[in-house]
Amino acid sequence: MDTTKNRRSRSGASSRKRSTFSSSNRRNTSGGNRGGYKGGNRRGGGGRSGGNRRGGARKMPTFDPSQFINKNPVEVTEEVYTPKHKFSTFGLNGKLVKTIREMGIETPSPIQDQVIPEILEGNDVIGLAETGTGKTAAFLVPLIEKTLKEYSRQTLILAPTRELAIQIQDEFKKLTKNFKLYSTVCVGGTSIRPQIQSLRKKNHFVIATPGRILDLINQRKYDPSHATTVVLDEADRMLDMGFINDMREILSLTPEDRETLFFSATMNKDAEKMVHDFMKNPVTISVKKKDVTNSIEQDVVPHGHHDKFETLCNLFNESDELKRVIIFGAMKHSVEKLSKELTKHGIGAESIHGNKTHPQRQRSLAKFKSGNARVLVATDVAARGIHVDNVSHVINYDLPNTFEDYVHRIGRTGRGTKRGKALTFVHTK
Ligand code: AMP
Repeated sequence: MDTTKNRRSRSGASSRKRSTFSSSNRRNTSGGNRGGYKGGNRRGGGGRSGGNRRGGARKMPTFDPSQFINKNPVEVTEEVYTPKHKFSTFGLNGKLVKTIREMGIETPSPIQDQVIPEILEGNDVIGLAETGTGKTAAFLVPLIEKTLKEYSRQTLILAPTRELAIQIQDEFKKLTKNFKLYSTVCVGGTSIRPQIQSLRKKNHFVIATPGRILDLINQRKYDPSHATTVVLDEADRMLDMGFINDMREILSLTPEDRETLFFSATMNKDAEKMVHDFMKNPVTISVKKKDVTNSIEQDVVPHGHHDKFETLCNLFNESDELKRVIIFGAMKHSVEKLSKELTKHGIGAESIHGNKTHPQRQRSLAKFKSGNARVLVATDVAARGIHVDNVSHVINYDLPNTFEDYVHRIGRTGRGTKRGKALTFVHTK
């Protein structure tokens, strides 16, 4: 792990270079168009109401298939980070420390080690970290601690997808099982009524997707003017999904003296501008993860006009190695169709995409996680923020929109010490 930290002043934020965040994920996003292979996908659903609000301005991507090949992945041994703190030395409530220990979390991860003291001190923080780094606990633990000390505190957490919002609440519930702290999840694609009812009660934490919470604000069911802290989790993804105006509007409705925490895997101009406009003297903490494009075995699977599905079935029939497989598809309906077709052909598959209700997605995910389904077919958006261990293969049945999406997808395998493989379908004939 490579970690860095610096402080940026409010006025200096926009002019300062991205000195601290990892650029490893950006390899070849623009420079790799050597061969002129064309693949055109539109991103699957998600966002405000399951739709993509980016509009039709996006260019068709051009990829060189060689970008998807790495037959000799390097063995990446991550640098050992020595934390300065233990959970017992942050000055946290003893019961909270005990709960963290009971969750099996022993040592603060690098992002936690550096972020927790800053949040406890009341500083605005930019955390440049991907999922899997422990970023959720990095903001939840200190915010829970502060809420225990000051019961009137209210935190609003914005996340790009309902799955991520639910996962944040799950972690919140685990961390607060010994305390009387309350939370509500407000996400789209599910009935608004229970959310309205839950918002009537006291909530220390509201975890929401931007579109839904803005609806609730407009209906005067949630009052953002009481938020003491706003967390933007996976901010780059929210921006990418077209939530920029919603995010800015929500932030502008919260008090000026709020604390703002901004977590993102990457920074771009929109993110820089938000930081500049809405954060006060933020501390930047960057945690670089291993470069998956170097460390994951990758190959292409050539197919013709009419044999794409047959080629996929053959992969499964010819190899026992494909034990737990995530297949990425471009569109919600094609993802659904593919999972049904696979199941028909004896390859147990579940699907997650924006056309499914939240409980349906949760059920599919549970079946996949428990091993009851060998395959999970997903759109990029629906798969975001989901953790599944021991994924043996990621298959890009449809091409991603960007190389960054590709990196995100293949990062679903090869987690931790387990080795996985990424296969990308390319149309050759
Ligand atoms: P996140 O990056 O927040 O999505 O966290 C990924 C996973 O790591 C979650 O399942 C957490 O429960 C787990 N986790 C969080 N902090 C730690 C830690 N310090 N050590 C080990 N696991 C952790």
